[in-house]
Amino acid sequence: MPPDVPSFPALLRPGHIASSRRCLTALPASQTEMDASRLGLVYYCFGSIDLLCAMEEIPDSNKEAWREWIWEQQQTKSETGSGFRTGTFMTPATPEQTEAEQTPSYANYDSPHIIMTYVALLILAMLRDDFSRLDRRGIVKFLGSCQRPDGSFTTVPRDAEQDLRTLYCAFAICSLLDDWSGIDVERALTFVESCRTYEGGYGQSSFCEGHGGITYIALASIYLAPPEYSKHHLTPAQKAETTRWLLNLQHESGGFCGRTNKEADACYCFWSSAALKILGAGNLFDSTRMAEYLASCQFKFGGIAKVPGETSDPYHTYLSLAALALYPPDLDESDANAATWKLDPLDVLINARESTAAWARQYIPGPRS
Ligand SMILES: [Zn+2]
Repeated sequence: MPPDVPSFPALLRPGHIASSRRCLTALPASQTEMDASRLGLVYYCFGSIDLLCAMEEIPDSNKEAWREWIWEQQQTKSETGSGFRTGTFMTPATPEQTEAEQTPSYANYDSPHIIMTYVALLILAMLRDDFSRLDRRGIVKFLGSCQRPDGSFTTVPRDAEQDLRTLYCAFAICSLLDDWSGIDVERALTFVESCRTYEGGYGQSSFCEGHGGITYIALASIYLAPPEYSKHHLTPAQKAETTRWLLNLQHESGGFCGRTNKEADACYCFWSSAALKILGAGNLFDSTRMAEYLASCQFKFGGIAKVPGETSDPYHTYLSLAALALYPPDLDESDANAATWKLDPLDVLINARESTAAWARQYIPGPRS
């Protein structure tokens, strides 16, 4: 083939960067419900920009404003410990109100949230914050307040709802803090094991259907735990069973689906392929076909959609790029589009660019006190 003739579609980087930057300031109407979890939205947008190595395109003053806004979401007044809240939609409108209403009893209704605390730490690392304002001890206390007697975690203390996503966020935070003292790791891992299904996948809780996203969450939690808990690692037979189940989630389109016999969806390309990476089985599926599927999910005005032909959103954009950072398509260097697919590597257990996860691990633990 003569050089400069592309045999593979391009990753539309400028469009994905522009779309992610746009969603940081103005959400499309289809995404407005995400505003209630604004920190999550900011994580997906900055995460995409970070993986595309475009953080330097954001002016320093803008980064500074974002750092300040995220620190404003740190809630340190709650009796159950410290962490980050979902965003500003629940908080008082004026500084005077803030002063008057930030009593411990008020703060219990404006609680930190485990998932938002995990994403806040990573956004601050993407923005290269020094974490000097982090209430580390308060976070350790907060994680303990969210653990239930069966080992699972709720997103906020005293809540009834729990699932494995929350447990994973607690584990990722402990790993970044390098402090597991606030939680019962053994009990948590026993809970993870109770979520394993007969197929080799993991469900939201015991006796639930196996799910690609939850299987990533379960495996990442098991392998993030400190070395003294390695007895919970999968046995060779379990690894083979889980690998087989995950490989069967790859759809004929090249994309992955999240559950047995479902249609492909861009986000499951990350969840399932990342789970395979954790198991050391990332070479057993056709990753170039997966990239081809994700290329077909690209939206003409930027961002990546759940399926081809739909409108993009920050969640599917980030997770598609994260999958591609783990598995760049195997293209010949002479292909004119090869360079568009080069992304920075991803820390598969923390789910952030490797250099960002390394920054977090360096600055979050802080001085022991
Ligand atoms: Zn999806």
